[in-house]
Amino acid sequence: MMKKIALLGYPVSHSKSPLIHNYWMKKHALDASYEAIAVAPEDLETTMLRLIDAGYAGLNVTIPHKETVFTLCDDWDDTAKRAGAVNIVVIEGGKCKGFNTDIFGFTENIRVAGPRFDFKKGPAVVLGAGGAARAVVLGLLQEGAPEIRIANRTKEKAQLLARDFKNLRVYDWDNVAAALENANMLVNATSLGMQGKDRLEIDLSALPRDALVNDMVYVPLQTDLLRTARERGNPVVTGIGTLLHQARAGFKEWFGIMPEIDAELKSMVLR
Ligand code: NAP
Repeated sequence: MMKKIALLGYPVSHSKSPLIHNYWMKKHALDASYEAIAVAPEDLETTMLRLIDAGYAGLNVTIPHKETVFTLCDDWDDTAKRAGAVNIVVIEGGKCKGFNTDIFGFTENIRVAGPRFDFKKGPAVVLGAGGAARAVVLGLLQEGAPEIRIANRTKEKAQLLARDFKNLRVYDWDNVAAALENANMLVNATSLGMQGKDRLEIDLSALPRDALVNDMVYVPLQTDLLRTARERGNPVVTGIGTLLHQARAGFKEWFGIMPEIDAELKSMVLR
């Protein structure tokens, strides 16, 4: 029987996920479909029920629905429980099980792109306190980062995150430089530096030259942050792998196959 998967988001038209999953479904010759559905928050629950009734096998969930879908699931894997947010749902016998593969996306991207990187070696600095930053923080904690320093334009949001997790220290957005001293890693999880958004203005002089720099922004792939970091000798990791690895793990939950990231897929996503 054909497996139907739907992506729920609002808006959803910008998402690269249909392209990625349709590529893998074709590659593995699966009898499956993947469609993006824009769902306003007030219609989320009824849409989920309609899709369950219509025999959908799974859901992909994106902004702004990840937390609400978590509350609508019947069961969760450990990572979804820890995150309080779900980006993948498997539907079986009318019941929804929620997964969170965003954290895997972040950690796997670093593992694959920087295999010698040791999360445990020192403090990690995270810029931002939105959904992406939350997944990054959870990934860092899971990998044993001894300290996480977080700075966000709206400090209260960083303080809320710090309340939820141990080992988090909040720094002023205007004083990010202080957070960079003896850091092992810097992650930009704000939308600054993204095409069409403001530049990320940051002075990297206090950052050790062996600290790894990762940008969650992947449009453009080589952000100003990564270029500046590379020029001063820091190892850098782009954000595209985060997207692709979270998708791989989601695909595996629906279809039992861990798909590969090949050059053709990468160039399609970046086009
Ligand atoms: P979000 O929840 O809307 O959070 C946006 C973050 O950016 C907040 O911390 C916000 O600060 C900050 N920000 C926005 N404009 C700013 C400005 N002018 N000055 C300073 N800070 C600003 O979004 P998100 O889902 O976390 O996504 C953040 C970025 O990560 C986006 O660019 C997204 O494309 C990227 N992302 C990439 C992946 C991947 O797979 N590579 C996955 C998820 C997200 P305030 O709290 O002060 O508003």
